[in-house]
Amino acid sequence: MTAKEVIKAIRNVPDFPIPGIQFKDITTALNKPECLKWMRDELVKRYKDLGITQVVGIESRGFIVAPSVAIEIGAGFVPIRKPGKLPGETLKVRYDKEYGKDTIEIHKDALTPEDIVLIHDDILATGGSMYAAVELVRKAGVKKIYTNCLIELEGLNGKQFLADRGVEIECLFGIEVNE
Ligand code: AMP
Repeated sequence: MTAKEVIKAIRNVPDFPIPGIQFKDITTALNKPECLKWMRDELVKRYKDLGITQVVGIESRGFIVAPSVAIEIGAGFVPIRKPGKLPGETLKVRYDKEYGKDTIEIHKDALTPEDIVLIHDDILATGGSMYAAVELVRKAGVKKIYTNCLIELEGLNGKQFLADRGVEIECLFGIEVNE
């Protein structure tokens, strides 16, 4: 399996969820066992020797591969969720989206100052969601933060947006946004 073959398995859905957006549907890669395994194995290869203690997934597509990576590298899994979903006391970050604002939350007691964290999501577009997640984990106060997305949508400058804010991100591969 190669990155090219995984890219081929991702379905483009034009005008979803709104006109003008080309949606990258990863479900057509996830249901192919060899693609799913490739994603898991690539992440394990990159992050296994960094002392990561917690993999933090961003709701909801950041929840798909992250837990199996966490198990393989000997880390735990922590969810970042949309507002009102987590039952315990939470930390919150409010951030700007393309249309309006959004809030994300994490359990206050989910991370410790000793944790080395990998924050994971499926797709990096403008970088807004990932940066909000980094701010949230910074608020929790951990030792070190790594960030990863499976896919970078090229042409949206998400990597630059993050770099301008001191965040370096690794993606498994890039796809042109309108490819
Ligand atoms: P952003 O905050 O702009 O980087 O957007 C990233 C989040 O939105 C990720 O959680 C993605 O799953 C989702 N997303 C953004 N653009 C797309 C797209 N074209 N296709 C699929 N998901 C997308």
